[in-house]
Amino acid sequence: KVFKDCAFSTALMKAITKQGYEKPTAIQCQALPVGLSGRDIIGIAKTGSGKTAAFVLPMIVHIMDQPELTKEEGPIGVICAPTRELAHQIFLEAKKFAKLNGIRVAAVYGGMSKLDQFKELKAGCEIVVATPGRLIDLLKMKALTMMKATYLVLDEADRMFDLGFEPQIRSIVGQIRPDRQTLLFSATMPYKVEKLAREILSDPVRVAV
Ligand code: AMP
Repeated sequence: KVFKDCAFSTALMKAITKQGYEKPTAIQCQALPVGLSGRDIIGIAKTGSGKTAAFVLPMIVHIMDQPELTKEEGPIGVICAPTRELAHQIFLEAKKFAKLNGIRVAAVYGGMSKLDQFKELKAGCEIVVATPGRLIDLLKMKALTMMKATYLVLDEADRMFDLGFEPQIRSIVGQIRPDRQTLLFSATMPYKVEKLAREILSDPVRVAV
């Protein structure tokens, strides 16, 4: 398998090559074609597998495919992660591919100034990476609208449950239109996560490494 099979745009291929990514990892081989086809995914993979690029690259393509949307307010892609460390890592990985394509990425998580994050969201972004509690706070403050969001990623879902974020996740998912594409990644699949996946994904493809 090679990245060329994904038929990425020249700009995106350039960004991938610039990162030194020569060939897709196992999870990318499985998840990229499914994500690019527009289908929902349950991904069972750990950090270090290359799962971030597996959901970020189809997200970039999804955004590039609807240039008329980027003119309106609010992110198209929403990524939820359990911790600020993971949110920051995802933010860095997303920026590698977003920047060359003129896509703006914002990261919002606890421990940083809410006012700064409010201003950043108000300035506009196409992708937001967030911890669930902080995203809810900012939604309440009307720092952003998710009316336009059509690509949702829940990363490390099992850890978000362990940290007690289930109500926040359900609230966030409930605010995003049901015709979205949803990708749920988790290192393990306990019953509670499986149950959530069944409720919020439609006809998902399961990929595991
Ligand atoms: P992740 O599991 O998403 O946290 O990724 C682990 C690390 O692998 C990160 O530093 C990525 O930048 C890197 N990585 C992701 N995909 C590839 C690839 N296809 N080739 C080489 N490195 C990669």
